Amino acid sequence: MYAKDAAMDLTHAYGLAAALGDSARVLTQREMVEQLSRDFYWYSPVLRKQLDGKAADIAVQPRTAEEIQSVLRYCYANDLAVTARGAGTGNYGQAVPLRGGVVLDLSCMDRVEGIQADGVAICQPGVRLGALENEARKSGWELRCYPSTIVKASVGGFLGGGSGGIGSVAHGNLRDFNTVRALEVVTMEAEPRVVLHEGEAVHEILHAWGTNGVISRIWLAMAPAVEWSQCAVAFEGFDAAFDFSERIANDTGCTKRLVTTFEWPIPSFFTPVKECTREGKALIFSLIASSQLAAFETSAREADGEVSYSGAYAGLRTRPLLSDYTWNHTTLWAISADEAYTYLQCAFHPDQVREQMRKLKERFGKEFLLHMEFWKGGDGRVVPGAIPVVYYTTEERLNEMIDFCRAIGVFVANPHVNHVEGGGRYRADNVQLLAKQRYDPKGLLNPGKMATFQREAPTPQASSR
Ligand SMILES: Cc1cc2nc3c(=O)[nH]c(=O)nc-3n(C[C@H](O)[C@H](O)[C@H](O)COP(=O)(O)OP(=O)(O)OC[C@H]3O[C@@H](n4cnc5c(N)ncnc54)[C@H](O)[C@@H]3O)c2cc1C
Repeated sequence: MYAKDAAMDLTHAYGLAAALGDSARVLTQREMVEQLSRDFYWYSPVLRKQLDGKAADIAVQPRTAEEIQSVLRYCYANDLAVTARGAGTGNYGQAVPLRGGVVLDLSCMDRVEGIQADGVAICQPGVRLGALENEARKSGWELRCYPSTIVKASVGGFLGGGSGGIGSVAHGNLRDFNTVRALEVVTMEAEPRVVLHEGEAVHEILHAWGTNGVISRIWLAMAPAVEWSQCAVAFEGFDAAFDFSERIANDTGCTKRLVTTFEWPIPSFFTPVKECTREGKALIFSLIASSQLAAFETSAREADGEVSYSGAYAGLRTRPLLSDYTWNHTTLWAISADEAYTYLQCAFHPDQVREQMRKLKERFGKEFLLHMEFWKGGDGRVVPGAIPVVYYTTEERLNEMIDFCRAIGVFVANPHVNHVEGGGRYRADNVQLLAKQRYDPKGLLNPGKMATFQREAPTPQASSR
């Protein structure tokens, strides 16, 4: 049973205010609750149809792990669904409540507790990634990887729903290289517990969309800070741009944070940075160590590239900020130019990438525009990934593209489905599901988003946690 009428909402609003000890942080105003129930699901024309109008009934804003426990205790006793929310910048309707109930807005839990001498940051889940980056740089550290939504997105939301981004070319994705050292998670039980997950056990919770616990504290490993410069290079054709960017991505002597390659006409969508683009040409946006910028520019010219922009990077307020056009921001600029654009998330095979790209272009032409992003895989090999901008006509055509990618060996994390399993980052060893069965036996956390969970499932013996 879930909260479903106004009188009931009011009863629960009083109950939650009593549990929290502060009615000001229990929100019932319709527009406010609806706003806190949305994310960027509308990037997908498929999800738009499914998720428009879905919302929680009440929003609650805890400040401490103890307050999260009080809220979850109340919700467990009253069978209320709870959807955790960081900043709501997720793309797949991850934070959109399917069955009403409570949206747990964690934005008030925004304290950086400290950066340890070994570069591990300890923070609350609502800390914005940009704030953490700024704080870390004060003591000579910076984020290993971050989404292009760094300014708004929260650390908890990144762990709950993100994967990687700027920095991943050098440091891998969030799940790799022990980047998430540990986290604490609050369980959804009659007596909610705070459980510490360290080392490998973090993978039980990472990228589970808040379906198996509410992350309340995080230990995140940083990288030594680097002085960065931004550089844009235009190339006559996409092949030359890709060859150069692949070389840079794989060059262990080159210190880089970003190497993004765009097929024309994607750069034509970047109207605010028109001066960095060249009509009809493929484009690379990069973040390179300032000490290596001159050498980078020389090798770009030797590869027949034209340096269309270069300048110092002085943090997230730098203008232009090239990262604002990379990763999934690219799709946003495409949608701004033409609402029919949407996207896919792909990983090409490092040895077959050219052949795979050729087959895709041959089959789909301008319907499938190449936007490449590199990341270091867990085995240390650099993966040519892509967030291609695709022109949407019908769901069948979109699925045809996904099927074709998979048929030629291109991995697709499908951003047009609204459950953890379909999104492509579900763990085959089932640890996320096992954690859900242990920590959320009634299935009240973000219900509907872990498709394989059954409320009646027997409690597994797998762990004594
Ligand atoms: C323009 C654009 C660009 C993007 N680029 C990238 C990118 O480069 N890389 C990338 O990985 N993602 C990207 N994203 C997706 C998203 O911005 C990131 O994943 C971001 O880190 C999500 O953080 P958030 O605070 O907004 O999370 P939310 O959207 O609030 O939440 C994401 C998921 O995590 C859950 N969650 C939130 N907080 C907690 C918690 N404390 N405990 C448990 N679960 C929780 C939510 O329930 C939800 O399922 C992009 C999105 C947009 C719109």
